[in-house]
Amino acid sequence: MDLRLYDTLTREKRSFVPLDPKNVRMYVCGPTVYDFAHIGNARPVIVFDVLFRLLRHLYGADHVTYVRNITDVDDKINERAARDFPRLPLNEAIRKVTEQTAAQFGSDAAALGSLTPTFEPRATDFVLPRADGKADMITLIQQLIARGHAYEAGGEVLFDVRSMPDYGALSGRKLKEQRPGARVAVDAHKRSPLDFVLWKQSSGDEPGWESPWGRGRPGWHIECSAMSAAYLGDVFDIHGGGIDLIFPHHENEIAQSRCAHGTSAMANYWMHNEFLQIEDAKMSKSLGNFVTIRDLLADWPGEVLRLNMLKAHYRSPMDWTLKGLEESAKTLDDWYWVAADLKGEKASDAVIDALSDDLNTPQMIATLHALRNSAASGNERDRSQFAASLRLVGFLSESAEEWKGRKQQASGIDTKQVDMLISDRAAARARKDFKESDRIRDELAAMGVVIKDSKEGTTWEIAR
Ligand code: AMP
Ligand code: ZN
Repeated sequence: MDLRLYDTLTREKRSFVPLDPKNVRMYVCGPTVYDFAHIGNARPVIVFDVLFRLLRHLYGADHVTYVRNITDVDDKINERAARDFPRLPLNEAIRKVTEQTAAQFGSDAAALGSLTPTFEPRATDFVLPRADGKADMITLIQQLIARGHAYEAGGEVLFDVRSMPDYGALSGRKLKEQRPGARVAVDAHKRSPLDFVLWKQSSGDEPGWESPWGRGRPGWHIECSAMSAAYLGDVFDIHGGGIDLIFPHHENEIAQSRCAHGTSAMANYWMHNEFLQIEDAKMSKSLGNFVTIRDLLADWPGEVLRLNMLKAHYRSPMDWTLKGLEESAKTLDDWYWVAADLKGEKASDAVIDALSDDLNTPQMIATLHALRNSAASGNERDRSQFAASLRLVGFLSESAEEWKGRKQQASGIDTKQVDMLISDRAAARARKDFKESDRIRDELAAMGVVIKDSKEGTTWEIAR
């Protein structure tokens, strides 16, 4: 089956045809680095990692370029820096905040089983024209002005949305539906209320770069137009992000990139993940149900979070629950039990087919359950495909021992003591002292350890 992806722009599921099968190119908007990433932010990280892995499988690992940027210039970063490091000069404080947060994000993403993208550019490296000639924000803005798509007003450079007849196609917002409203007074310098900032002036100790329009800093949207062009060219295959980015961020990226380069498209497939909420409520700091990836990782292996995320299709809203996490943990214990010792040769066609249908991960998981059952009842070919499929999508990164060891650590069980009790019990059984061997079994049970005897010897696991 060929790969089919839902495109937000054309509102249909279409066969995926890359511009160049030797270099399939994908861009996903990354984090603004001022705070710990929450579990909602993990959704695009995991979903687009699965797509990256699938593309590598279909086109070859060396034929896919995945860019996920880091937004390290933003007024929220400035506020956080001033709050957290009031004694430092602002630029140093900003560097501290962005470096710490970006490093934390990188380790969260890795713990969730995500591959490192091919490039992770930082916005601040793409403001000024570059020695290597890669695209940059100032040059893009100059091109927009030269082509009549941008103008200077009120100390800013603004994009002129009326210069682009089909502005609004991605989000379905038509220009003429936008009535000038109450915000007109604030936006008096704009030709149209939807005109957006490409460049704004910086004052005092605000971060700023010298530009043809004075010392200032870029607007948010222009970053992604510059960094995607720098690594992927003027037109590329897939652009992704969360559904909240459709408007204004992606709409404005399209406007900038198409108008600067004179192209009819920026990317050929626009993909957006739906939001997740927690126990039926919107996640928010004020409700106190704001959960960071880091906090969850203290309680659960990253693969449990990953599996739990993939139980919902990326275009459906999902409810993140404790019950779901517990079930995902049980599933993974079982999968490790069945397949962890195996590398596996070839991923199952049914798994690839499920993913090729617009990343149908619920279908993929159903297929994995079926393979697991067949594997457990002795079908070695299915066990091999089961293991290879799990590895393909980012599971079984640990050995069975590591997986078990981590659980034992989490449960506070002293594995040395367990092993000693088990050998004492074996000795008791050998001398037919069944009273003692039963006593030891009960002692282990009281510790939460269940033992299983077989011809090969005694194994144990933690009671669920
Ligand atoms: P932000 O740092 O807020 O720009 O978010 C980074 C990424 O996470 C963007 O792609 C957002 O669309 C996505 N995102 C934010 N909140 C959620 C959520 N609750 N569920 C799913 N995705 C989210
Ligand atoms: Zn972006």
